[in-house]
Amino acid sequence: MTVARVGVLGAGTMGRGIAQLAALGGYETVLYDVAPELAEAGAEGLRTALDKGAERGRWSVDEAIEAAARVETASELADLAGCGLAIEAAPEKLELKREIFTSLAAAVGSETVFASNTSSLRVSEIAAGVPAPERVVGMHFFNPPALMKLVEVVAAERSSEAALAATTEVAERMGRTPIRAKDSPGFVANRLARPFSLESLRMLGDGVADAATIDRAVRLGGGFRMGPFELLDLIGLDVNLEIARSFFAQGGEPERWRPSPIQEKLVAEDRFGRKSGHGYYEYGEGHERDPDPDLGIAAPTLDPAELAKIDPAAEAILTRLFAQIANEAAFAREEEIASEADMETAMKLGFNWPLGPIAITELIGPRRAVETLDRLRAERGEAYAAAPLLRCEAEAG
Ligand code: NAD
Repeated sequence: MTVARVGVLGAGTMGRGIAQLAALGGYETVLYDVAPELAEAGAEGLRTALDKGAERGRWSVDEAIEAAARVETASELADLAGCGLAIEAAPEKLELKREIFTSLAAAVGSETVFASNTSSLRVSEIAAGVPAPERVVGMHFFNPPALMKLVEVVAAERSSEAALAATTEVAERMGRTPIRAKDSPGFVANRLARPFSLESLRMLGDGVADAATIDRAVRLGGGFRMGPFELLDLIGLDVNLEIARSFFAQGGEPERWRPSPIQEKLVAEDRFGRKSGHGYYEYGEGHERDPDPDLGIAAPTLDPAELAKIDPAAEAILTRLFAQIANEAAFAREEEIASEADMETAMKLGFNWPLGPIAITELIGPRRAVETLDRLRAERGEAYAAAPLLRCEAEAG
């Protein structure tokens, strides 16, 4: 199945970026939205982004002109006829996405692959009721699509291998790095990232250290570009809380995914992070963080002498964080949500982690991870229940 023409449905934040990638990848690109003026505005934004990219040397002026010429807008679903792949980037509502694909199925041939950019819905549920559901897949881009290399190609229960292969090929021609994901809660990157915020919030609640100290330890000792609380403030506490609630519900309410009461309280107080002027930090004029000192630490590390240079609590912070990262990865490996290599790729490209969760598991070692979890489980409860696979590996030495 060779795709020459790509349709994008929904010309908002994600749709524009995805259409830009399709056009730069050499595809005839059709941008559709519910109202023609929204598609036009999206295409205009896309052209501006192409020009800016050329000014910054990301591609040549000729490439920008050629890509812009490949973009057309559509006001009728019938205009998407001839698209080998139609990527849906409409609001995150199950019924809406289903309805879009069902209407699209009536307007285009059965050859068109339907890909949803959903980040939290089950692709299999979107596909249910859509004619020829085997052509429906997930194609999860990260924001902003033009900069984030990762694309999770999600195999729903009935997705055909041909549909998945065609989607993977398009992602590659868009210059992205596709990984194959199972249709499970939050797919791969967002799921494996759960402990980054949740365990940090539990540490904050337990009084292990304050937010700034946890962030410093995670940056300087963990080698992460941003600490968990800076990241929460950037994403928005309300946005992150919605994600946390969605995971908790979809996962059958496992304790380790329980949304943080600290975060619930801050959101109830309208402390949303940077966008509201305060979250875990206060924002305003002159509130940029000072650059970190160079302590000469080869991060990520769990070396106690190295970590003591940061803060007396740094070793405890990174041990807890890495134990829970290893634990989530072990649950994910048990469930086979992706290959181990794809899990590593997901976290490096989707979240800029310095190491993937498998390498972090090796760094802490399954034995130390399980000892840490067991100790915390005795004190704190089921959020620290170790994954059976991790325990097996710990026992095997
Ligand atoms: P957005 O609100 O910026 O854009 C959605 C667009 O869809 C709007 O232009 C809207 O007019 C249009 N739309 C509404 N009904 C439509 C219909 N029936 N047919 C076609 N278009 C319709 O939203 P967004 O942030 O671009 O998110 C789109 C999807 O991408 C969601 O499923 C979201 O979960 C997912 N996603 C978003 C991000 C992100 O960070 N924004 C990241 C990954 C995935």
